Amino acid sequence: MNETAKEILTKLLKGNEQFVNGKYDAKNITIETLRGLCDHQNPHACVLSCSDSRVVPELIFEAGIGELFVVRVAGITVGPNVLESIEYAIKKLHVPLLMLLGHDNCGVMEYAQDSYPYIKDGFKSILKCVYPAIDKDKTALQNENILARQHTVWVEEFLINNSTIIRKAVEKDELYIAKCHLCHMTGRVSLVD
Ligand SMILES: [Zn+2]
Repeated sequence: MNETAKEILTKLLKGNEQFVNGKYDAKNITIETLRGLCDHQNPHACVLSCSDSRVVPELIFEAGIGELFVVRVAGITVGPNVLESIEYAIKKLHVPLLMLLGHDNCGVMEYAQDSYPYIKDGFKSILKCVYPAIDKDKTALQNENILARQHTVWVEEFLINNSTIIRKAVEKDELYIAKCHLCHMTGRVSLVD
């Protein structure tokens, strides 16, 4: 991991610690901040997060306006638009850190567990994205929070295998991908092995 990515990850996890301890004190959340960034942006990191209303990256990391380039999609499932949004953050905004943020009690994981191995109309692309993690280890069918973690690991593999921009950035050590998981009861974000 390059030094900049390490520093940013440490800062985000420190911000999360503040949130967990009820010492939330975010800076850079005023109209003045936004005005200062009216014609440019320079985010520290890209976060791929679930759309779940309980997972709000800026709040749980004590981050302000302009600090995080957030891509939110149900179940952090990746399709072409999500992939290209992340690539934009890497190629154009030069973020050195990409965080994949799964979480407890994810509705998409529950739905995938209930539906596996069938693909249902209406949620095809989402289910197709979660099933590989179940295919790999069926024990994930028993616990949605374990599945969420295994899915996050799969998402990293998928991104590296399907994006030249991401793969090259990782190979050159210009990008570090941090696989993380949010626990709802504690508010703590921890790294997934
Ligand atoms: Zn979710």
